[in-house]
Amino acid sequence: GQCITHCPVGALRERDDLNELVYAIADKKKVVVAQIAPAVRAAWGERFGLKREDATVKRLVAALRRTGIDYVFDTNFTADLTIMEEANEFIERLKNKDKYKFPMFTSCCPGWVRFVKYEYPELLPNLSTAKSPQQMFGAIAKTYYAQQLGVEPEEIYCLSIMPCTAKKYESQMACMDVTGTGPDVDSVITTREVGRLIRAEHIQLEHLKEEEFDEPLGCGSGAAVIFGATGGVMEAALRSAYYFLTGENPAPDAFKVVRGQDGVREAEVEIAGTKVRAAVVSGLGNTRRLIERIKKGEAEYDFVEVMACPGGCAGGGGQPIHDNLELAKERGDVLYELDAENEIRFSHENPAVQELYRSFLEKPLSHKSHELLHTDHSLGI
Ligand code: SF4
Repeated sequence: GQCITHCPVGALRERDDLNELVYAIADKKKVVVAQIAPAVRAAWGERFGLKREDATVKRLVAALRRTGIDYVFDTNFTADLTIMEEANEFIERLKNKDKYKFPMFTSCCPGWVRFVKYEYPELLPNLSTAKSPQQMFGAIAKTYYAQQLGVEPEEIYCLSIMPCTAKKYESQMACMDVTGTGPDVDSVITTREVGRLIRAEHIQLEHLKEEEFDEPLGCGSGAAVIFGATGGVMEAALRSAYYFLTGENPAPDAFKVVRGQDGVREAEVEIAGTKVRAAVVSGLGNTRRLIERIKKGEAEYDFVEVMACPGGCAGGGGQPIHDNLELAKERGDVLYELDAENEIRFSHENPAVQELYRSFLEKPLSHKSHELLHTDHSLGI
């Protein structure tokens, strides 16, 4: 499609990221593939004054198709993939405790990863080596999906729609180029920018019917959608770690003890006779205090989830801003509702992810998975 090539109001000139997207959409040789992060769906309608029940992710999918984007996919797909890799990595570390440093920290928030690199580089070995869902999506889009389409990686233009400004920096790191043809994720626009895009395109949201994501990278579980709320990555990882260790699913809400809005939360859970001491922290001030306590030996954990923004990505720096109003909790609640409504509550039950392993990656932590889905955090400081 070509409909945003001549923006009538000039708003698209406001940021390079939107400008570049406009050119990619106009370029007939490019296949434009978009991913929508979990937290975006809980906030994108706010600037249009849409009611939460009308501002569904399916309506956003329809709006994005009207801009000329070729395929609209879901970052939830690779949030599930992140859990497959990260939960198995955690188990591997638990089984070889003498070989690894504990606690293991999550690695999907680039604001946090950058903070570690600058402030606590000695903790880099504690970070999970799993890439973030955004970067896993880019790597899979330019390899597996490019093969499915029968195109070269450089013909794919991979766009991210994120609640986050730090994701722009993450996508441009030199190590995030698995095909050697350029960044896996070509550009990142925020929830606020996607609002400007829709407005500039004069898309009448009230007349727009909901549309489904494209397949196969549009399939995501309930465990994936809660990545957008503080505690969500931990909960999703525990659900699948339980399955990997016992061969049985826990009750989907068995680990809801890690939910909440307090800046630091702790929980001890038992999985197959193994005690897991978990902590969930959001906001970098809280994170610094937690790290200092760990360093002094005042606190000890096995697994820690860190999100730089208070309340997690739901309250991310790229989300709509409302004066004096903090919406992270309200948006997080939307994500937990979406999880509860989803037929699939476990990342390991995502059929599209299962197929990806069957036909392409082989298994979690395989050689190919390491090549495409993991990173060395000591690079790219
Ligand atoms: Fe980005 Fe904030 Fe989410 Fe981290 S917590 S990924 S900085 S929006």
